[in-house]
Amino acid sequence: HREIHLPYAGIVVLVGPSNSGKSTMLERLAAEEVIRSTEIVSSDQFRMLIGDDEYIEWKHRARSEADVIFAEYQQVSAKAFEAMEAIIATRCRLNKLTWVDATHLYPEDRERLIQLARKAHVPVIAVVLDVPEQVLLERDDQRKHPRGRQRVKQQVQQFRRTLRSIRDEGFDASYILKHPYPVSFVRTANPL
Ligand code: ATP
Repeated sequence: HREIHLPYAGIVVLVGPSNSGKSTMLERLAAEEVIRSTEIVSSDQFRMLIGDDEYIEWKHRARSEADVIFAEYQQVSAKAFEAMEAIIATRCRLNKLTWVDATHLYPEDRERLIQLARKAHVPVIAVVLDVPEQVLLERDDQRKHPRGRQRVKQQVQQFRRTLRSIRDEGFDASYILKHPYPVSFVRTANPL
């Protein structure tokens, strides 16, 4: 059993493919009152705030109108990330802790959050959920709106690259949690 000590303020970047259990872990932490639900931001939440629909709804629409809808989704998605980053930056400046729930499978996505934390002079840590492909695919099958085998497998490839590079990217700490990752998070009670 592992204990992860959280910084008082800053950014916790969750990293993991679809179905690795990022949102589920955060829900559990909120239910256990380790974190407050207001400390969580997610790309899906901001996609809805900006463009009304979450990823899965865009995916369904895109099936019929392929390219135009997809381009629209990408635009909404980019704007959603911009808005989310603005909120994270403000929270960092107010010395608050923020958990970011998105896959963060690409180095450039992680780099943006690292830079944002640097600018605000707060720590940024990565919590990586390493779940076997087989388990990810089984969970996907059971999901109400499956992400799709192809997409999950592609994410697993990208995740393997992430595992090789994440230690050297400039995170103040990175924790790779292997499924079923028994872990508890310990908060810092007071600002330094
Ligand atoms: P996405 O990036 O697609 O939002 P995610 O990493 O946030 O995915 P969740 O939304 O937490 O993943 O979970 C996806 C599915 O996997 C859900 O159906 C959930 O019930 C299941 N799941 C998540 N964690 C576990 C777990 N520890 N044990 C069993 N099933 C799990």
